[in-house]
Amino acid sequence: MVKEINLLIKDACIKGREELVDIGIVNGVIAAIADAGTLTASQTIDAAGGYVSPSFTDAHFHLDKTMSRQLFGAVKFADAFGKAHKVKSHFTVEDVKSRAMVALDMAVAHGIGAMKAQCDVDYATGLVSMEGVLAAAEEYKDLITVEAIAFPQEGIVSDPQAPELIRQALRMGAKYVGGLPEFETTETYQETHIKTIFDIAEEFDVNVDCHCDYTDRKRFRTLEKLADITIERGYQGRVCAGHCNALAIYEDDEAKRVIDKLAQAEIQVVVLPIANLQMLGGEKRTPSNRGSSRILELLDAGVNVASGLDNMFDIWYRFNGMDPVLLGLMTCLSGGMRTNAEVEESFNMITNRAAKTMNRDQGGVMVGAPADLVIHSAKNIVDIYRMIPGKRTTIKNGKKVGEMDKTVWTAKLGF
Ligand SMILES: [Zn+2]
Repeated sequence: MVKEINLLIKDACIKGREELVDIGIVNGVIAAIADAGTLTASQTIDAAGGYVSPSFTDAHFHLDKTMSRQLFGAVKFADAFGKAHKVKSHFTVEDVKSRAMVALDMAVAHGIGAMKAQCDVDYATGLVSMEGVLAAAEEYKDLITVEAIAFPQEGIVSDPQAPELIRQALRMGAKYVGGLPEFETTETYQETHIKTIFDIAEEFDVNVDCHCDYTDRKRFRTLEKLADITIERGYQGRVCAGHCNALAIYEDDEAKRVIDKLAQAEIQVVVLPIANLQMLGGEKRTPSNRGSSRILELLDAGVNVASGLDNMFDIWYRFNGMDPVLLGLMTCLSGGMRTNAEVEESFNMITNRAAKTMNRDQGGVMVGAPADLVIHSAKNIVDIYRMIPGKRTTIKNGKKVGEMDKTVWTAKLGF
């Protein structure tokens, strides 16, 4: 019998159960799931029939640049690349930390319990951005788990300071080596870029999280190269690739070859549909794809695919309010996900599948899983998407850490 439940979530709807349940939490772990009305505790949250899910994970977010758009906004993709180093040269540790905290506040309120934070390390910002991001992560550690990626946004061959800065960032507390091979000017340099990040990853025994083939304008092939090198180095299961938009414009047979290699290399893919829906295309042309990648083909091949928010009010993307539910809906729309199973997968891409990119997949709401949860006002995934933003309560490590409520809608003739 379970004793001393610290927190009881009563009358909850969970996946795989027809009837409402009570969820008992002991010391940050789900200790009991029982028929509604059967558990008691000193502290209770009434889910009122709402759906309880694992907390959201943002698998790819640029926490260092968030809220910096006022410095240099960019409308076009090329402008953003051209101006990024100038924007970063204005950053200070305190400034990065305070902007990151704005994003983390909003993330926690919307139910995000973990985040993979991309953070530039390059000649323009040095280690200033990393210091600011790690300071914000430390301040928020009881509310959200943040793991930093040392990201060489200005390249490796084109920015010879980058490899040593990545090493220093890993010593400071970054958890992953990042990459952006298509930034290099030749295919040989792209290969050098990828090999260098693997050299560093092996040296520190950390995983890789690499931007690949961001644009839908050029048929970049760094994703395939990443898969080849992952297999060569025996790094299967330790590599994540972000964006992967060019994959969407390959011919089907070429795409299949690359997807098969990704499956073989056990590379995980993170799509960034909200930011990329706006950033791709443009210049008086309609985008060739819809900001996403070949989600359904990747899933069919057994590749783990997650979704991330990418940017908020920075040089790359001017909107975003850190709502993972909106991200799930946009993932669904941009990926053409229509069936019940596909809609459920889109929700997995912001919960379990995203958590897997950080080795944090808790498997669902089940006994023994960490009590990192979100209590929704809606009763199922379709209604969670339909009634955005709704009401949510964020539970981290068995404690209530965030809440938001936007459930009051008023309509009246002559109002
Ligand atoms: Zn990115």
